[in-house]
Amino acid sequence: MAAECRNNDTGMKKKSLFLDRDGVINKRIVDGYVRNPGEFHFLDGVLDVISILARKFDYCFVVTNQQGIAKGLMTEKDLQNVHDEMLEDIMKANGRIDRVYYCPEHHTKNPYCRKPNPGMALQAQKDFPDLDFESSVMVGDSISDIEFGYRLNMKTVFIETKKDIDIEKLAEIQNKIDFSFASLKDFALHSDKIIA
Ligand SMILES: [Mg+2]
Repeated sequence: MAAECRNNDTGMKKKSLFLDRDGVINKRIVDGYVRNPGEFHFLDGVLDVISILARKFDYCFVVTNQQGIAKGLMTEKDLQNVHDEMLEDIMKANGRIDRVYYCPEHHTKNPYCRKPNPGMALQAQKDFPDLDFESSVMVGDSISDIEFGYRLNMKTVFIETKKDIDIEKLAEIQNKIDFSFASLKDFALHSDKIIA
């Protein structure tokens, strides 16, 4: 069982992995949203990689901005269906995600739950009080993911899959990126050094 893979050291601060979803776990739909399970496609090798990472981290979370809900392009139930199926596939592959956090709000409201704001991570800390941000890692393919991890004192890992990223903005946050990799798989290969 996946639970047996956990590091059960009592009294120790727990290492957590925060994963962005679109572009890290699944193929990002450019200028669009994954509105149903049929539109959700895992990136190559990700299922195997999550099962490896789940053994290395005490907690694994998904943190995802989903303003398609505020835009009326999908409902929370649609998103729930996508996540239910994602979690089922991850479990079948012996992986584990302890909780999925999402922000349904529109970016124009600058909501506290929307990355780069810290709401989702602080909710995770409420739900799992022994998690320790300083020994945690945020992995994402967007500038907002890096800002989010940096503000919370996590290690930040940038996944270079986004072809349409703003190069100038990326240059401005270079000092906030601890590691860059081409994929989640590449991160997993080097993760022992990063979380040591
Ligand atoms: Mg992303």
